[in-house]
Amino acid sequence: MFSYRHAFHAGNHADVLKHTVLIATLDHLLEKEAALTVVDTHAGAGLYRLDGDYAGTSGEAAEGVLRLLAEPEKAPDTPAPGTKPAAKKTAAPAAEKPLAEAIARYLSVIHDFNPKGGARVYPGSPFIVQHLLRDHDKLKLFELHPTDARTLDANIAQLEAGRRIAVLREDGFGSATKFLPPPSRRALVLMDPSYEMKTDYGRVLDFAAEALKRFATGTYAVWYPIIPRPEAHDLPRRLKTLATKAGKSWLHATLTIKSSKITKDAASGETQRPGLPASGMFLINPPYTLKPLLAEALPQLAERLAQDRNASYSLESGG
Ligand code: SAM
Repeated sequence: MFSYRHAFHAGNHADVLKHTVLIATLDHLLEKEAALTVVDTHAGAGLYRLDGDYAGTSGEAAEGVLRLLAEPEKAPDTPAPGTKPAAKKTAAPAAEKPLAEAIARYLSVIHDFNPKGGARVYPGSPFIVQHLLRDHDKLKLFELHPTDARTLDANIAQLEAGRRIAVLREDGFGSATKFLPPPSRRALVLMDPSYEMKTDYGRVLDFAAEALKRFATGTYAVWYPIIPRPEAHDLPRRLKTLATKAGKSWLHATLTIKSSKITKDAASGETQRPGLPASGMFLINPPYTLKPLLAEALPQLAERLAQDRNASYSLESGG
């Protein structure tokens, strides 16, 4: 346990999906004046440097937020002398379509943390949420990793957010339900474990079941990795069953950027693992505005973040 550090992964394609969904969900929930409580069961360190050692080593942000921010390459209007004009593509490249509203909104939040442009600073879920919340809303952050909890504490202490934000060095699965239901009876719970241990999959389900029992009208959002592991494959199916049995609406969005196949390097013969190829977000009681926003955004994310021709997305809902 505790070998996972989100700093290596901040701003990758999974964060792009997760945070785009998070922002679109919050934007809707914050339209009502009544106070909102956000519970982040697995908060991480809160803020990350994409030009620092961790992110630099993994290079994952380059295939995520940084790729999204990069100016798309434009084909030259006139071919260079002696070259043939480029063949026409059947589909207009994403660069020529207007950016989907949810992606533009996500990038505008990233920009708020990087007023000079780019994304040297990447906000994790605690900072995205605190940035959007109003003075009368509440944020409860759970983080167990000793170093990340300390960093989160220090990062939050820089803000003048007072008692609006609580950082708890506790097991998010074990104790976050104590905040449900909140006094205003309006809450968003983000469950974003590292899935370092395969028991995390079962714990997500148990937590969601217990939370729904305590507070049936809350909005619940689960991020999960799409990897060749039975527990990962089963999680969305089991969440769907849970929501349906409870008579609740649900939404399931996935984003794949590359093949999950393990390959061998032709020259060295070394086995090459693809890294995380895909991930999903499953929401119970999602805002009704989310599906149309994602229907527009997901094809663009799949196109812009594609690393091979296996890039794809899916979006379904029910209840
Ligand atoms: N939600 C964050 C974001 O979007 O920026 C990223 C969170 S990261 C994927 C998962 C975090 O959960 C890690 O920082 C890890 O240390 C922490 N963690 C692992 N098990 C935990 C537990 N039982 N309770 C609270 N935090 C835990």
